[in-house]
Amino acid sequence: MIIWENISLKPYNTFQIDVNARYFIEIQSEEELKELFSEEIFKRQKRLILWWGANMLFTEDFDGLVIKVDAPCRDRSCTCPSENHIIYPWKNEHSYPWKNEHSYPWKNEHPYLRSNDNDHIHISVPAGEDWSDFVQYANSQWWAGLQKLAGIPGQVGTAPVSNIGAYWVEIWDLIERVEWYDLQTGEKRRYSHDECEFGYRTSIFKTSLINQFFITCVCFRLIKLDSSLHSQWQKLQKISDEILQMRSEKLPDLELFPSAGSFFKNPVVSIEKWQELKGKFEELIGFANEKMVKLSAWQLIEMAGLKWYSNGKAGVSNKHALILVNEWGATWNDILDVMKVVQDAVKEKFRVELEPEVVIIKNGWE
Ligand SMILES: Cc1cc2nc3c(=O)[nH]c(=O)nc-3n(C[C@H](O)[C@H](O)[C@H](O)COP(=O)(O)OP(=O)(O)OC[C@H]3O[C@@H](n4cnc5c(N)ncnc54)[C@H](O)[C@@H]3O)c2cc1C
Repeated sequence: MIIWENISLKPYNTFQIDVNARYFIEIQSEEELKELFSEEIFKRQKRLILWWGANMLFTEDFDGLVIKVDAPCRDRSCTCPSENHIIYPWKNEHSYPWKNEHSYPWKNEHPYLRSNDNDHIHISVPAGEDWSDFVQYANSQWWAGLQKLAGIPGQVGTAPVSNIGAYWVEIWDLIERVEWYDLQTGEKRRYSHDECEFGYRTSIFKTSLINQFFITCVCFRLIKLDSSLHSQWQKLQKISDEILQMRSEKLPDLELFPSAGSFFKNPVVSIEKWQELKGKFEELIGFANEKMVKLSAWQLIEMAGLKWYSNGKAGVSNKHALILVNEWGATWNDILDVMKVVQDAVKEKFRVELEPEVVIIKNGWE
């Protein structure tokens, strides 16, 4: 087991902020994780788990141990609550059908298929798998539910942490169970859907359990479509393809403009507040239920006059106002400066607080 010292985290966060980790380790299996539990450094140091760092902003060197979840963190023992479930296939054992458009499967022959009820599939996916690969795989097997979540960068294990979502779909609807290690006790735990306490871009993993757990596996319940109908597969894949196309047009290119996706959550206000705002700003968009209205943060930012805002190093993306981007070698300070300008302007105009969706890492903790 190699624990590195003073490693730059620039390649490990999509904002490309150049800070160092005092200690750094890559974990490739559950065995390695358990081995780590007995290391003195693990016991003594503050810990931070990350994968792509696609939802983080570092604001200083991390004076502790960064645990990077490496891709093949695969655990065959992880199980869905149902007896009838399957385990995601190992990449090297499975030729991905979408890589060759002529070879997608006509039948759901699957090496790990045990049995399934007629309408649903229960699948356990190891945490270190790439999210987009999993979505494509599910589409290729005629399993519906994930198709609108195509293209969200990150790994499967972080999907429940911030209850990822896009285009009116949130992952919590499809999660049956999350398996994780308690980093205080070293015990393996399993949380049911309800125990995860999902909310808008949050869960118990982002609140009371933050940095105290290591997710190893997520169990999903997806809808089985009729695999004899080629048209159903086409529909599913078409939705994902359209979403991917939209994302590539609307979101800034990560290579050119490093970011962590949507920087702010869409604010939720009371019906009274909504009526007051709508009276003043007729063009405001809101999505209501009987108690609350969710506003579109990008619209508030644009209406506050910050569509093209830049401080020379960081700014509001000119493709999507909800995304703050590293424009030119920005430091964390440049990004926090833009965050503050945006929050202040929106508050002044609408009396609405914008809360970051991105996890801001200060002194090693959020
Ligand atoms: C261009 C872009 C577009 C995006 N679009 C969307 C979108 O449409 N919808 C959306 O919801 N999000 C979006 N995001 C945010 C991001 O993709 C998700 O939050 C994603 O799940 C983060 O993945 P990650 O694996 O990089 O997690 P990281 O950023 O590395 O980690 C996120 C959190 O999970 C914790 N964590 C990571 N791995 C583990 C583990 N195994 N066990 C325990 N804790 C762990 C970390 O400590 C951290 O608190 C976008 C980001 C970018 C850069």
